[in-house]
Amino acid sequence: MKKLIDQLEKEKILSRKDFIYLLENYDDEIRNYLAEKARNITVKQFGNKIYTRGLIEISNYCKNDCYYCGIRCSNKKVERYRLNKDDIMSCCKTGYDLGFRTFVMQGGEDNYFTDDIIVDIIKSIKDLYSDCAITLSLGEKSYESYFRYFQAGADRYLLRHETACEDHYKKLHPHILSLKNRKECLFNLKKIGYQTGTGFMVGSPYQTAENIVEDLYFIKELSPEMIGIGPFIPHVDTPFGNKNSGEMNLTLLLISILRLMIPNSMIPTTTALGTIHPNGREEGILAGANVVMPNLSPISVRKKYSLYNNKICTKEEAAESRNLLQERMKKIGYELSIDKGDFKPIII
Ligand code: SF4
Repeated sequence: MKKLIDQLEKEKILSRKDFIYLLENYDDEIRNYLAEKARNITVKQFGNKIYTRGLIEISNYCKNDCYYCGIRCSNKKVERYRLNKDDIMSCCKTGYDLGFRTFVMQGGEDNYFTDDIIVDIIKSIKDLYSDCAITLSLGEKSYESYFRYFQAGADRYLLRHETACEDHYKKLHPHILSLKNRKECLFNLKKIGYQTGTGFMVGSPYQTAENIVEDLYFIKELSPEMIGIGPFIPHVDTPFGNKNSGEMNLTLLLISILRLMIPNSMIPTTTALGTIHPNGREEGILAGANVVMPNLSPISVRKKYSLYNNKICTKEEAAESRNLLQERMKKIGYELSIDKGDFKPIII
């Protein structure tokens, strides 16, 4: 199997058959072999610097009803909130003072946030913090909306495809949502010029090895600048409340595979990874990730943005605890960067 990994490193892709063989037969030795290669590539590309992004969860209202999501519109137990412009600007000020140079505005698909409101917020952030990048993660929008945000100064957009297989997509989403539209949104974002991020849940209900391979092939085709993957974690108040969580080792293996496939991509070690294991965040870095995204949202709303059970949002996950996170990164040989961390060409 090591030969397959050497081949993946060289050619940056494997056949579907070989990917499936790897996914179904890897063991700890193979995972570590792959992780070491991934780590070496990450260090050559980015040094031992870990980029930080300050996450601002602007609203937990959402018009959609994805079966896996804790803030889906049919979950009546959620205490809904949305931040206003002043709240968001205040998060940016806190984040800037703490050393963050990227602000990620994430939220459900909340109709309150019209394009005019979003554009106004983007412009205001850029006016005050012209040395910072703005990442949006606000779901599916029209080409025109994405274009307006980009013109206003947004630099990056995150939109996980979640699964690249039509059948599987239908098992995770109500019929009103379509994989076709999701993919179209992603290609539109790329076309407009965003640094574009996609990704998927590992171990989501009904996911097969074949589904994961299609995810890898889709990512290869899209060639995103950012790739976010994390284990599926059920939320008790959703139709998938009694499903099992995704596996940490498989998530780590996939982070390493993606690092070999797209060496210069920005890959976060996700909060979900830190949630399923106390060292999940560090393990993600050691598997080839190079980004962390601590929470900058007002403390009063952090628990309310609950996409899955027991999401961590204190200690090292909290932006104000940047020092704690720095310490943990130091212990594994890395340090947090203040650089805004734009995508760059491959330098190896
Ligand atoms: S996954 Fe996103 S779009 Fe789907 S319900 Fe949750 S917040 Fe809304």
